[in-house]
Amino acid sequence: MDLAQRIKKLARLQLVAMLGIVACLSYWQVIRAAHLRASPYNQRLAERARLVPRGSILTRDGQVLATDTTEGRFYPLGESCAHLTGYGAALGQTSKAGLESELELALAAVGPYEDRWRDLIRGKPRGHDVILTIDSRVQEVAWEGLRELTGAALAIDPRNGAVLALASSPSFDPNRIRESDVWKAVSARTDAPLLARPLRGLYRPGAVFKIVTLAAGLEAGVIRPDERLVCRGTWVNHGHKVTCWKQEGHGDLTPADALAQSCDIVFAKIAQRLGRERLRDWLGRLPQPAESLHLPQEAPRVPLLDEDAEASQELVQVSCGEDDLLVTPMCVALLACAFAEQGRWHEPYLVHQVIDAWGELVADHPETRQHRLTTAAVAQEVLEAMEQAVDRGTAGRGRIRGVRVAGKTGSAENPEGKAHAWFVGLAPVQEPRVVVVVLVENVGTGRGYAAPIGREIIRAALNVPRVAAGSGDRMGALAG
Ligand SMILES: [Zn+2]
Repeated sequence: MDLAQRIKKLARLQLVAMLGIVACLSYWQVIRAAHLRASPYNQRLAERARLVPRGSILTRDGQVLATDTTEGRFYPLGESCAHLTGYGAALGQTSKAGLESELELALAAVGPYEDRWRDLIRGKPRGHDVILTIDSRVQEVAWEGLRELTGAALAIDPRNGAVLALASSPSFDPNRIRESDVWKAVSARTDAPLLARPLRGLYRPGAVFKIVTLAAGLEAGVIRPDERLVCRGTWVNHGHKVTCWKQEGHGDLTPADALAQSCDIVFAKIAQRLGRERLRDWLGRLPQPAESLHLPQEAPRVPLLDEDAEASQELVQVSCGEDDLLVTPMCVALLACAFAEQGRWHEPYLVHQVIDAWGELVADHPETRQHRLTTAAVAQEVLEAMEQAVDRGTAGRGRIRGVRVAGKTGSAENPEGKAHAWFVGLAPVQEPRVVVVVLVENVGTGRGYAAPIGREIIRAALNVPRVAAGSGDRMGALAG
């Protein structure tokens, strides 16, 4: 190789190296710049956040849930909203959870929320306030209904996906959770106070899943709304005996009657007509976790329904919410939202607005995505059947005088003890403004526990005062 060739080779190598450096620099400084600026591990952000007082977290109606004080972060409502707020540490530290963690850039007004011009004009920089969609009265009723029990309660506006209440019990005191002995005691408890049950608790849906089976049957055309199916108390399906909870049988029922009476035989028959493929298709439509909520959620766990499912009891069990089907209370709420809203459900959201310390709007909640579960006609049929369940069926404890309520109760088998009780409800039927889900662990039937709590949450959301006479007890026969 002569000298000229060597020089040429060297020049080529240099060119490649230069291009490499240019590529790396542009990757970090152009393509990944936004990510770096927003990362909570960015030291410059952490430094700025130490100097800036954090904003507050408030409910839609102005109740403060988290705020900075001279003694540190303060949570005025303590354990009743602990799974919403979480608890906060300084930016970049790992000891935080809930919205304090998910919204920390907004609360500290850093990264994408930083505006240096504004800070320069106004002097001392301050964090932003985050206004939630939560209604403090609805939240209080949800928490009061649950606090002596173990379970989840949530309320959502089906018209747009705004979450009105989200309560989980048992809970913890976010004011003290960062003290190491408190942390140790709480995390050692077997009843999992740190678990946000409405979003991360996975339960068999039990009979509340019959609203989905009914929709699937109607949509596929395997049952007609005016058809009558027979329940004689028992039914033999592929050599397996299916029994109804009502031993003597329900007699002739329309599909809507069957939902109102929660008849097991009619739903077993619907499941058999639906078959494996269609039921599997419906399991695939179950609402999945949505980023718009800003909090961690669990996806539904669905059984595989393989070839054997057709001949075994699996189809029947799944259609009644048993077997390996596990869902969160939020998933059930979103299904009910679809029946309230002509077959469509909005992705849920919690952040209404971000406001700066001078009251100016920094960010408004974006329109959340919509998903179609079923047709408007099928949703209407299911809604009417759910209203029957409250008016003259098994969900009667959800009834509110003067308000058209639709709902469904259920008790879901629990291998570890007594059944879990469910209630899903919505109102007013003619123009639904609230969907409520209540789940109470290990108490047996849904009627006695979950429905009365759900009814009170609906009442709070619709601003319907309690009727003093005859109501007697605190939550209306909680123990019934
Ligand atoms: Zn029956």
